[in-house]
Amino acid sequence: MNNENKFKTHYFSGAGDPNEYFKNHHHWESFQDDKKYEYENYTHDYGYGNLEYTNTLYSLDGSKYVVVEEVFTKEMFQKYAPYCQCIKCQASWWEFSKKSMCACCVGCLKYGDRESADVIAKTREYMRSKGIEY
Ligand SMILES: [Zn+2]
Ligand SMILES: [Zn+2]
Repeated sequence: MNNENKFKTHYFSGAGDPNEYFKNHHHWESFQDDKKYEYENYTHDYGYGNLEYTNTLYSLDGSKYVVVEEVFTKEMFQKYAPYCQCIKCQASWWEFSKKSMCACCVGCLKYGDRESADVIAKTREYMRSKGIEY
């Protein structure tokens, strides 16, 4: 069986530099077909304490990468939601096109379903700057 199909989530992105694209993820690496990966959620310390993660397969510029995504519980989403720094929440009232973006697609933490490493990192930065525990 093809190991690629064992990943629960696959993302296809256009072009980009993986160092830039995955910079807010706690770990990523080039996909190797003969390597055994974790296909279920798991707990690991990638330098941020023991957190729950899931491995996701990304295609970027025709290359494949295994990228770890933090798994958020309902409680974590609720805690972070009021401070969400996604593009939709941060849009000004006149930026209608941003305001009307799909919450799940922008990784809005208020939507509470899809974790976006970029939004999580920005939101934590904001919370830290306000002295809010996270
Ligand atoms: Zn959506
Ligand atoms: Zn949001």
